[in-house]
Amino acid sequence: MPTILVTGSSGYIGSHTLLELFDSRMNVICIDNGSNSYNKRVYKHIGKIAGKSRISRYSLNLSTDKKELDEIFDTHAIDYCIHFAALKSVGESIDEPLLYYQNNLLSTLNLLECFKKYDCKGMIFSSSATVYSPNQQMPLTEESKVGMDLSNPYARTKYFVEEILKDYCKANPIFKCIILRYFNPIGSHSSRTLDENPKGIPQNLMPNILQVLNGDDEEQVFNIYGNDYNTPDGTCIRDYIHVEDVANAHAKAIHKLTRMNETDSNCITYNIGTGKGTSVLEIITTLEKCTNKKLNYEFKPRRQGDLGVVYCDNKKAMKELLWKPKYTIEDALSNYK
Ligand code: NAD
Repeated sequence: MPTILVTGSSGYIGSHTLLELFDSRMNVICIDNGSNSYNKRVYKHIGKIAGKSRISRYSLNLSTDKKELDEIFDTHAIDYCIHFAALKSVGESIDEPLLYYQNNLLSTLNLLECFKKYDCKGMIFSSSATVYSPNQQMPLTEESKVGMDLSNPYARTKYFVEEILKDYCKANPIFKCIILRYFNPIGSHSSRTLDENPKGIPQNLMPNILQVLNGDDEEQVFNIYGNDYNTPDGTCIRDYIHVEDVANAHAKAIHKLTRMNETDSNCITYNIGTGKGTSVLEIITTLEKCTNKKLNYEFKPRRQGDLGVVYCDNKKAMKELLWKPKYTIEDALSNYK
């Protein structure tokens, strides 16, 4: 079985992916500095669910702790890396662009140096739907335009890393890279112990909604930005996908890395979404039905940079990774009961 280094392993998608990797009996080495996750608690829950008494894990900052990172590669014969670690708040990236460029770009560069020095065979990179240029025809395919007119530094860090990886792959033809562009992961493991649980003010839809739905403050309101988009109910449409389906795509991508041969390109990109759009209001009404609770919400004007409709064509991932999303939106939202 290959040895897989997982960075950002105690974060939302990383923790769910660890379960997939343990399920496939892979050897896993974890790195996370806990800047946006609760390391101790998450590993404890993962150990319990996966029936593992010991998880090989390190707490270090990938963008600054080069020596410690080198030591990890020196100690373990790492075959592949899944690189989740990044800062991911769009709003924060607008206020603190340097923090985002330093963290997200330097982490990747430091890893690439180790891959080269220690002959690591390949990696999977967590990219995002935010790399697609705005105002394109839907669904977005992997060939849709990327990198132009991106509305925030976070999206640019993902786009720049994609470009860095393509250059690295060109210069190192034996190295294999899979770039996964996630759309909108929601839901959690049925134990509810691995929820999306960011430090600070949540930015993604579900932690925001749940804070209002389950909060003690009855005055708290969830803001829906824009109800005048050109969509059936006027609210934004996104491609929400169960996080366990996203996690499963990584296990499939590892298998793909081991199967890639000389006729394949050594850097391949896949959209990871369901291929279906769901509006914010549809999410809310489904969640209310699943939880039997009412959400306090109100409409606010559109936010600058938000697009009306975003969803993907996921056929390439289904065909080449032999992957298929299993869960519905109801499945994902039922877990929030
Ligand atoms: P997350 O914040 O829950 O997990 C990321 C983890 O990386 C955190 O636990 C954080 O502590 C760690 N980390 C960040 N910088 C680090 C550093 N310098 N050194 C060591 N650890 C570091 O985020 P997530 O939702 O699990 O996302 C995982 C990846 O997927 C990220 O790269 C994110 O940009 C990308 N992505 C997420 C979404 C989404 O909606 N969740 C969508 C598209 C892409």
